[in-house]
Amino acid sequence: MSSTEPTVFTRIIAREIPADVVFESDTVIAFRDIAPKAPVHLLVVPKTEAYANVAELAAADPALLADVVAVAQSLADAHTDGEFRLVFNTGASAGQTVFHVHAHVMGAETGGTLTEGSLAE
Ligand code: AMP
Repeated sequence: MSSTEPTVFTRIIAREIPADVVFESDTVIAFRDIAPKAPVHLLVVPKTEAYANVAELAAADPALLADVVAVAQSLADAHTDGEFRLVFNTGASAGQTVFHVHAHVMGAETGGTLTEGSLAE
């Protein structure tokens, strides 16, 4: 559930901090990852910060999760060749640093190939 401090993503949604926003609806926002690990690296974020991770979101609001996936596909169609890697880090030991559910959409440049292991630090 929500913590007392807004997440960095809530602050982006509120336009308190800047981001390169590529999509926005009433329920979802998407912007470029500030530290990209693939040629195309976008984050798709439900605007609510009620869910810390994808398992919580799936259990509570599967339609919103479906929206996130649909946005990921449309962004991949727009920004690369429509093929993409979709990653939900879940838990600190798996690399999650922002506990406001978000999907990483990672893809190659159009016509390219995503390098295996692009998520590795
Ligand atoms: P995770 O580690 O799965 O929680 O993903 C959080 C992601 O948010 C990381 O890939 C960060 O690079 C990214 N990130 C953190 N702060 C910002 C920001 N202000 N704008 C865009 N992306 C951010």
